[in-house]
Amino acid sequence: MSYVFPPPAPVSVPVVGRAEHFPVHRIYCVGRNYEDHAKEMGHTGREAPFFFLKPADAVLVATPGNTAVMPYPTLTSNLHHEIELVVAIGLGGHHIKATDAAKHIFGYAVGLDMTRRDLQNDMKKQGRPWCIGKGFDQSAPIGPITPAAQVPDIGQAAISLQVNGQDRQRSTVAKLIWNIAETIEQLSSAWALQPGDLIYTGTPEGVGAVVRGDTMVGAVTGLEPISVRVE
Ligand code: MN
Repeated sequence: MSYVFPPPAPVSVPVVGRAEHFPVHRIYCVGRNYEDHAKEMGHTGREAPFFFLKPADAVLVATPGNTAVMPYPTLTSNLHHEIELVVAIGLGGHHIKATDAAKHIFGYAVGLDMTRRDLQNDMKKQGRPWCIGKGFDQSAPIGPITPAAQVPDIGQAAISLQVNGQDRQRSTVAKLIWNIAETIEQLSSAWALQPGDLIYTGTPEGVGAVVRGDTMVGAVTGLEPISVRVE
């Protein structure tokens, strides 16, 4: 096979304790999956899960001990942080039952669903797609993936985000409206999941703006924390 130009290198994320990286296929995101976040966005709380995507190359890897740099994106003056637990799919499938979901999970990571909130809100008002608000370059910072067997209590993990050392978001994965297994069941009824898919499972309450010079530190119990500076 030859190509009309060199194909891009695969997008990948490091794996804790392994030399091999996790190659990224797609990035799925769950909308409004914590009740108090749904309320702060003007909704009532529990609703059927809904999904959107980011391009795979929106990944921005934040390695342990380093601060990744995220350029402040164009066209926005209201860049929001959303701390999220990310589920990494290792075994694909269509119509996966919640009771079978665990065996499809390779591992977990800490991620940020960065959002151009002003553009997202404009699109919502006009009934247009969210892509420009959600799927921009470097909009998916992520830390290394920890294999699932090393994180037995992910469903009870604390999740938090600090900006410049101050708490902005703090909750627990137990408050997911649709838990990890239910999310995989719903998502895999709409798309055939593939190895390499990442699922950003939703953010708890406390989303807010960051500006140039801010450093975000995100954590989920049992996973490598991430540090990202906006420049
Ligand atoms: Mn989100």
